[in-house]
Amino acid sequence: MRKKIVAGNWKMNLNLEDGKNLVAGILAGNPALTESKQVVIAPPFIHLLQTGVQIENQQYISLGAQNCHFEASGAFTGEVSAAMLQSAGVQYVIIGHSERREYFNETDSQLAQKTDLALHNGLKVIFCCGEPLDIRDADTQNDYVAAQIKAGLFHLDATSLKDIVIAYEPIWAIGTGRTATAAQAQEMHAHIRQIVAAQYGNDVANDMSILYGGSCKPANAAELMACPDVDGGLIGGASLKAEEFLGIIDAMI
Ligand code: 13P
Repeated sequence: MRKKIVAGNWKMNLNLEDGKNLVAGILAGNPALTESKQVVIAPPFIHLLQTGVQIENQQYISLGAQNCHFEASGAFTGEVSAAMLQSAGVQYVIIGHSERREYFNETDSQLAQKTDLALHNGLKVIFCCGEPLDIRDADTQNDYVAAQIKAGLFHLDATSLKDIVIAYEPIWAIGTGRTATAAQAQEMHAHIRQIVAAQYGNDVANDMSILYGGSCKPANAAELMACPDVDGGLIGGASLKAEEFLGIIDAMI
């Protein structure tokens, strides 16, 4: 069943106390969630346990991590494995965020490995894709995003796809205040669904949640969410304030 999901990606923001207050503020807002309308909160690794305790009784709010390593375990100082995340109560992991691809030089094959390890450890994956501005200006974004999805996901079997959420985040819209228009988002989301359908069939594609990310705010969330192929959002800056995050949840679902 296709779900609407609003996921908050805190990135490298908020200390432990601020994170605790943010989660408390979100819970105090008592968002109207159901099996098909859910929230994911993805704080920095070091806040995961605390956030997990805070949302322990929330059936429709899941704990997400922002990354995991591409090897199962070993001498990788400073890294965190998918198995560790699972053991800490994490349910989702964001893989392939453009900031990871750009600043940490993560490659398509590493992202495919991460995805495998995450699924193997019972995590759901929020797999990110999205083009930089020069690709958008050249109007080649459809091929660019298709290549990212093929490289990251197409080695999986159809059954595994039920645990994959795709997040389309055009890089030119991330943290810039410049949102994709609803028409641009819908066009790309329909394209992504079509790519998935061509590989895995219509049922798999129709069941998949495809989130939009990039300067999403309460003021533009409703318009984006009205698009038939936009199933929610991956929210950065606006996920750091309870009332903004709640506003997006309200507008989106
Ligand atoms: P902003 O909402 O701050 O533009 O960030 C989007 C994003 O990168 C979420 O992963």
